Amino acid sequence: MQRVSSNVYVETGFRGCNPGFVTTKEGVVMIDSPQNPSDVMKFKEQMKGKGEIRYLINTEPHVDHVAGNFFFPVTVIAHDGFKEALSSLTTDGIKEWVRTGDPDGVSLMEGYFLRKPSITFSERLFLYSGEHTFEVIHLPGHTASEAAVYIPEERVVFTGDNIFHKVQTFLHEAYPEDWLQSLKRIEELDVDVIVPGHGEVCDKSYIKEQASFIEEWMDAVREAIKQGLTKEEAQERISFLDRYPMDIGIEALGSEVQRWNVARLYDLLTAK
Ligand SMILES: [Zn+2]
Repeated sequence: MQRVSSNVYVETGFRGCNPGFVTTKEGVVMIDSPQNPSDVMKFKEQMKGKGEIRYLINTEPHVDHVAGNFFFPVTVIAHDGFKEALSSLTTDGIKEWVRTGDPDGVSLMEGYFLRKPSITFSERLFLYSGEHTFEVIHLPGHTASEAAVYIPEERVVFTGDNIFHKVQTFLHEAYPEDWLQSLKRIEELDVDVIVPGHGEVCDKSYIKEQASFIEEWMDAVREAIKQGLTKEEAQERISFLDRYPMDIGIEALGSEVQRWNVARLYDLLTAK
């Protein structure tokens, strides 16, 4: 657990997303939840004495950001698109992730259900707690319902998976053009600290690198299409696995992620 500003705490060492929380005069606001039940317990230990948890904001609907919501019986806030996006996540599927990634955590899952948002928003939501503002901004890209949580008083933004800091970028559900626009909007925020969805905490100087990596991915797949390669052939040939490591705990998924990324971009680029 790392303290990145006066009242903002982040954990970048777990498998899954980087969950964090903000202490305010009226309690604690969480951003995303740890994926592994065992990590939830460690996270809760770190939160002790920091105040009562009041809200949990999810930055995106992928399993590694929402699976741990169950353990936090508070109001969950996320983008409108969650309703549809979460429909593909099943309790059995989540339990399977836990069985493989956190066998010790299985026993903690009694009565498990996927805790979904009870408040959703379309473009922007403001949440005020104590003296803190949480500006939750819809920034599609990595997924259609991606959101950033901007906390101006702390000069911090949680970007969700629109930023993978020096770890492999997942494009399997991406809208790359929107993503590039969203990165520009993150660039405009008045912040010192970026909490990425994955990888170590960084700052705005990394945004350019993230954008050009997405562009490079698009160029590679566009080139393959131009050469007349089928999707399967493109999947055989294109890999950026040498560029960054995979995030913690998912190292074995590396080649598969390359194939998903190629497939997604191939479909998007040939649909045009
Ligand atoms: Zn994701």
